[in-house]
Amino acid sequence: MIPQSTDDIGNLAEIFSSFQGEGPLIGNKQVFVRTAGCNLRCSYCDTPRFRREVKFCGVEDPSASGVFRQVDNPVTLSWAMERILVLWSIGTHSVSITGGEPLCQPEFAEALAMGCAAEGLPVYFETNGFSRSRFSRLIDWIDFAAVDIKLPSHRACPPGEWGRLVENELACIEGASRAGVVTIAKTVVLDCTSIEEIERLCPRLEGLEVTLVLQPASGTERPGPEKLILLHQAASEHLGEVVVIPQSHKMMGVL
Ligand code: SF4
Repeated sequence: MIPQSTDDIGNLAEIFSSFQGEGPLIGNKQVFVRTAGCNLRCSYCDTPRFRREVKFCGVEDPSASGVFRQVDNPVTLSWAMERILVLWSIGTHSVSITGGEPLCQPEFAEALAMGCAAEGLPVYFETNGFSRSRFSRLIDWIDFAAVDIKLPSHRACPPGEWGRLVENELACIEGASRAGVVTIAKTVVLDCTSIEEIERLCPRLEGLEVTLVLQPASGTERPGPEKLILLHQAASEHLGEVVVIPQSHKMMGVL
């Protein structure tokens, strides 16, 4: 049997259609392709079961049913593209390639983005931004980039690795913005997030066409309203577009 290359096969967690629940595109219908596996360990992670590769991919079938069937991993690029096209319906805004962390499977993520672009489907790419070199390979195929900025209080990685992580994230944001990709920088705000963390970060985004989303964490780490106002003020000293947007898909009761 001829071995398949890594751009032909990938480990996927889920493919389904729903409404975007975060950021400025909230409420837009998308086809979601969620890759499995992530290199970080954020304290607030809402997809912990997909931080490792998984045996099965859950695929919504039939379309718009909310019913999933299990398909063995790894899946092929041609199968994933076929499912994307089946799930794409009138009014769909874009394909969200999300995770886990898609850049953990860089060849497959790039091939997916290229495949969607070839079909004329806009691509919304969500990443933790850990690798500027991996991200730059697919920048030509994406229309929207949502790049996380991890703060020390997120405990996404060991403290000694945070500096390198955030430099990569900022480089991804700058690269996307300069390439003309609609760029969203997202940072999750916890009750323990300090003004200093935001003040240290925001000057690095000055001059870029970027929307900064401050996304309040939910549950026990949720920040109070005063904290949100102070953080918004601190960020607005440096950036023209700063918005506070919570996750909404749980409120809407959608996937
Ligand atoms: S980067 Fe995303 S998927 Fe990975 S641990 Fe953090 S929140 Fe979870």
